[in-house]
Order: sequence, then C-alpha cells, then structure tokens
Amino acid sequence: MSTAVVIHPAIDAGSKPAAAGFAGGKLTCKCPTDKVEVTISAQTAHNHACGCSKCWKPKGALFSQVAVVSRDKVSVTAHPEKLKIVDANATIQRHACTGCGVHMFGRIENKAHPFYGLDFVHTELSDSSGWSPPEFAAFVSSIIETGTDPAQMPAVRARLKALGLEPYDCLSPALMDAISTHVAKSKAA
Ligand SMILES: [Zn+2]
Ligand SMILES: [Zn+2]
Repeated sequence: MSTAVVIHPAIDAGSKPAAAGFAGGKLTCKCPTDKVEVTISAQTAHNHACGCSKCWKPKGALFSQVAVVSRDKVSVTAHPEKLKIVDANATIQRHACTGCGVHMFGRIENKAHPFYGLDFVHTELSDSSGWSPPEFAAFVSSIIETGTDPAQMPAVRARLKALGLEPYDCLSPALMDAISTHVAKSKAA
C-alpha cells in the first residue's frame, strides 16, 4: 500500500475515451443558482493535467485538467455578467465566475502568440461524456511552487505514468514543437 497521490478527481477515477463524433457540450460553474454557462460546439484537443499555479483546479487536487478548443466554438450562454478576468496582464486571460471562483475559459488576446485562437477549458465542468481524455501531464515540477514537498515528486510522477499520463516539466513535445515552429516562422517573416 502506497500513500494515495491525488492528481485530480476526474483523472484518478479513470478517464473515458473520447466519443466518436462528439461535438461538444455545456460547461457550468459551481454556483448553486444562477450558474454561468459556457457552450462549446466542438470536441476539445490536447487535454492534459497541468501543474502550473495559474490554472483553476478543484480543492485537494495537485493538478488542473485543461484542454483547448477553437475560440470561435466557445460562447457564454448564461450569466456573462458574473465573469471577470482574473489577471488581465497574464498571457492567458482566465474568465472566472465571481460567485464560485471557477475558471470558465482562458483566452489569449495576443495575436502573435503561438496558441492564439485557442481557448483553454475544463471539460470536467460538463455533464456530457465523450470529451477528449487527458493525454499527458504538463508543468509537473511547478506543483512544488504551490506547496508540494519535492520529496513527493517521484511518487507523483510514478502515479501519472501509472495513469498513462507522461509527465513533462513544460508542455508535451508536440506542443513545444508547435511553439518553436511558430517562433521560427515569425523570425523568417
Ligand atoms: Zn459560479
Ligand atoms: Zn496550468
């Protein structure tokens, strides 16, 4: 028996595979009434566990679970007046509910950014099943910044691997390649 490492409630329970033809769903915040609702009209991509200190995560979780989707597929369909940008100076502007604190979507407004055009969303806020499951873990070492004992890191990485989520201390190779490709093209232009 090893001490249970809580990665994220939705991930520890075992992720379901993406449903063929899945075309999105509604995300709702955690307020008991007057919930903010965000409608996503597409499947998500690059879903992953994120250890950074900025992503919203449920209480007790070491990681957030976050995916991307084209920003034109994201619309606020109830209670937009409750949303506020957490940090307008951050690269990703996280639109959070002022009632419950949940981040409903993160958006990049800098058109030169490699990920411009993609919004960041937490599909665990949806009742629908069939969303793309997490594929890897990003910014794993960053959980030390928010209080994890460095001595716990081997156990955390082992647990991520057992869950089928390769641990990376930045993003996955595919996403790091996408960033560098964008930078190379920008330099050539
Ligand atoms: Zn709320
Ligand atoms: Zn993050």
